[in-house]
Amino acid sequence: MTSTDDKKADTNGAPATDYDVVVIGAGFSGLGMLHYLKQEGRSVRVFDKADDIGGTWTWNRYPGARTDSESYYYCFSFSEELLQEWSWSERYPAWEEMLEYLHFVADRCDLKKDIQLKTTIESAIYDSENSLWDVKTNTGEAYRCKYLVSAMGLISELYIPEFKGLDTFKGPCFHSSRWPKEELDYKGKRVGIIGAGATAVQLLPEIAPDVESVTIFQRTANFILPAGQKKMTPEWEKEIKSNYPEIINKCRTHVFGMPFDSPVDRVSADSTDEERTAIYQKLWDEGGFRFCFESYDDLLSDLDANEAASDFLRNKIKELVDDPETAEALSPRGYPLFAKRPPLDHGYYETFNRDNVHLVDITNAEPIVEITETGVLTEKQLHEFDIIVLATGFDALTGALEHMEIRGANGETIKEKWSSGLATYMGLCTTGFPNLFMITGPQAPFANLPTTIEESVKWITACINHMEDNQYASMNVSEKAENQWSEHATEAIDMTVMKYGHAANTWFLGSNIPGKGPSTLVYFGGANNYFDMMQESQDKKFPELEFFEPA
Ligand code: NAP
Repeated sequence: MTSTDDKKADTNGAPATDYDVVVIGAGFSGLGMLHYLKQEGRSVRVFDKADDIGGTWTWNRYPGARTDSESYYYCFSFSEELLQEWSWSERYPAWEEMLEYLHFVADRCDLKKDIQLKTTIESAIYDSENSLWDVKTNTGEAYRCKYLVSAMGLISELYIPEFKGLDTFKGPCFHSSRWPKEELDYKGKRVGIIGAGATAVQLLPEIAPDVESVTIFQRTANFILPAGQKKMTPEWEKEIKSNYPEIINKCRTHVFGMPFDSPVDRVSADSTDEERTAIYQKLWDEGGFRFCFESYDDLLSDLDANEAASDFLRNKIKELVDDPETAEALSPRGYPLFAKRPPLDHGYYETFNRDNVHLVDITNAEPIVEITETGVLTEKQLHEFDIIVLATGFDALTGALEHMEIRGANGETIKEKWSSGLATYMGLCTTGFPNLFMITGPQAPFANLPTTIEESVKWITACINHMEDNQYASMNVSEKAENQWSEHATEAIDMTVMKYGHAANTWFLGSNIPGKGPSTLVYFGGANNYFDMMQESQDKKFPELEFFEPA
């Protein structure tokens, strides 16, 4: 254990620190941050409460968990050597392969010795007098650092609704993101899944063939796009590996950080009904998010364009699901495509044609009354289960930051600060919390995450370099810059169909958590524009930040 009292000031009289930087989280963000800072010679300690590195990919180990971005661009881009060396087995790799990949990076970049696992940061309190962060862990350790980086991930804080009787259920009952690490024998069992988002959509087809029965309790139907899973072939891999600079550049210049050929310079009204159907059919056959980004440039901004695509998807549900009543219950209504993050399908719809798979529409037909010792009681009947999975989502973006005691310069917690209105500067920092950086924080873009993470890590590294080069003690983002960004983020979302997400409880707006939304939690003004703004900020030496000399 380290005691802050024992620390001595350095030879220049500056207060002593244990590390230049403490990073919270050892997933993609934490590993990327650690690598970039180590390259600059900074001393860094990464803490993670999990017993392994990997973040999302160590927690989300439910059957069927896999990426929704394609493998070859869901990875770090900083080393051509690593890109060439690593081989993906599939278009959308499963969590085990993602975890293996992150271990490969951590080993090759010699990151593990700077990572401390099974350690929860309980508090981080800013000491204004010394311009340092005091960080305490659940294991009783205390550390001082100049910079604090949240790499806790945007979708990491679990959300479990307050179902009456939840703790009375006799069998295993857990959040999907806490699927037991030891083997859970679900074969031949009766499984209930509450929730029908991206997690449930991956889980259902994977377990359905092995269980006695599985029932999905759905509140809001989703627009679900076909994944188009396929094995990596030597030819495809060769093509990818000979094009990596171009792929990375495309990610960097794309509105969602993906190497797609968009904008397509076409709007929906330019096409006849037949032409439009043919375009959507081609993209449906190809699979993935290209359906949204390589069809029409106004799909996510114009309601008529969006409705045409939505209709195409609803017709597909009718084709794929045999029972018309189930097909109708699975058909999203009352909100546009992408106002809620569309999951990717690996056989979800067809799974409802099995005799052992059931859908319970808890909004219109059978509201949940309570969880009992033996199952889920709805207004119609008791559904008995051996296992209940709570695929009920996350308190996204602000959740992890607000659940930790992070106190800024005036003693206020980040939660208290944001209780009067969420405001950040580009999701990277927030006024009153000097020398705190957030990776994919609130009001940063939701896009291909490794791309956003790496660009954010570059900005943070450059900012720290700037401060150290100039011997600044601290930085604080100006209120003006923070307010301007938050207003801009709201204006940006208002130009898209994502603003209608409140009707569908989207986490983009915090609307999935009772009492939280709607609020602008995500920047939808284009990841490419965001990356350009970060570059401009670096080039101009961070004009939005106020820097302070040592006292
Ligand atoms: P989610 O999309 O937020 O879905 C949660 C589900 O729980 C929804 O169906 C929701 O219904 C339901 N629910 C919440 N509160 C409820 C209540 N009180 N009663 C009944 N139902 C309730 O969560 P998720 O599926 O875990 O996915 C979250 C995000 O994680 C995704 O959008 C995605 O960005 C990410 N994710 C990514 C991947 C991947 O990339 N491979 C995989 C999984 C998840 P409502 O819809 O009505 O709120």
